[in-house]
Amino acid sequence: MKVPFLDLKAQYEPLRERIGVAIQDVLEKTAFAGGPFVEKFEAEFAEFCGADHCVAVNSGTTSLWFVLLGFGIGPGDEVITAANTFIATAEAITFTGATPVFVDVTPDTLTMDPALLEAAITPKTRAIMPVQLYGQPADMDPILEIARKHKLYVIEDAAQAHGSQYKGRPCGALADAASFSFYPGKNLGAYGEGGAVTTNNAELAQAMRILRDHGQSKKYHHVKVGWNGRMDGIQGAVLSVKLGELNGWNDARRRHAALYNELLADLPGLELPVESDDSRHIYHLYVVRTPHREALMQHLADRDIATGIHYPVPVPRAEAYADLGIAPGSHPVTEAAAEEILSLPMFPELAREQVQYVCDAVRSFCEQKVSASATA
Ligand SMILES: *Cc1c(COP(=O)(O)O)cnc(C)c1O
Repeated sequence: MKVPFLDLKAQYEPLRERIGVAIQDVLEKTAFAGGPFVEKFEAEFAEFCGADHCVAVNSGTTSLWFVLLGFGIGPGDEVITAANTFIATAEAITFTGATPVFVDVTPDTLTMDPALLEAAITPKTRAIMPVQLYGQPADMDPILEIARKHKLYVIEDAAQAHGSQYKGRPCGALADAASFSFYPGKNLGAYGEGGAVTTNNAELAQAMRILRDHGQSKKYHHVKVGWNGRMDGIQGAVLSVKLGELNGWNDARRRHAALYNELLADLPGLELPVESDDSRHIYHLYVVRTPHREALMQHLADRDIATGIHYPVPVPRAEAYADLGIAPGSHPVTEAAAEEILSLPMFPELAREQVQYVCDAVRSFCEQKVSASATA
């Protein structure tokens, strides 16, 4: 048996005809950049998130950048985010001219630790950007409370959390705004690049619509210095088709996670992902922990099982951010996790037999380790 990390072809097969029709429609109407197919998807995705507005753009990194610009964040400002994230979260902050300030995560969910926020706030802080990581929201209530107290914006980085919930409310409408990515491998993936912001703030939505279209209020009337951040018509059409499947796909991911949890329970030296009682985790990634990470990865690779590490270098330790002068050990939970985390295969089309095969392989590894240490 062979188990890929994800299988976009398996997801495409049953949609082949509908995707073909949708793309053909864009071609016939030559609605290539922005336009009616993007607007239709925006309305659908806003509704899916329970938000008043959705502004679609050309990537999740652009949407993070634009939402910060839309709130007027720039040079001299600080934005607090989680140390355990994909680098795009920090890049967007840096590209506004502001400085990213990283706080550590909680050891169980590996999302932003609200207990560390107050100490990170300075007179320059303008916003907090929690990351709804691996498909699970951060503990939003205390984050929102601290933000309210200090008059800071809260922006969800929900790039991994389409359809995830916190206390029964969907990601995308938990704070002042949320940023999503439709990179092909995300839970809702385009057939190219894409991203979007959702918000209940009409002014922010309007500012972002102007920003993504060269600062135009109407054609060739440039009221702001903007950018080209529009979403492709083809991506809008594809995403409309795929959005209808998202709840079913997320349910399938949750079923696979439940089976992993059952079959991997109580293995020595292996920690399973923690789903908070407050959240509906949608398992963009199923991340386990072991002190023998490299060996387990090799053991699985030898059995044709693909795995990943999200992420091997904490963003504050990235060479790109050396100039921030953040000392090693500043984010101990994130730094320890980076040495131990391993993402197992996770995508909706996984077969039950594939999950069982992965679990058998993980089990044989863990038991081998125990007998090796017993005889040592
Ligand atoms: C994927 C991702 C992004 C960036 O999205 P792109 O569409 O690839 O630009 C940002 N933040 C997080 C947490 C992500 O996983």
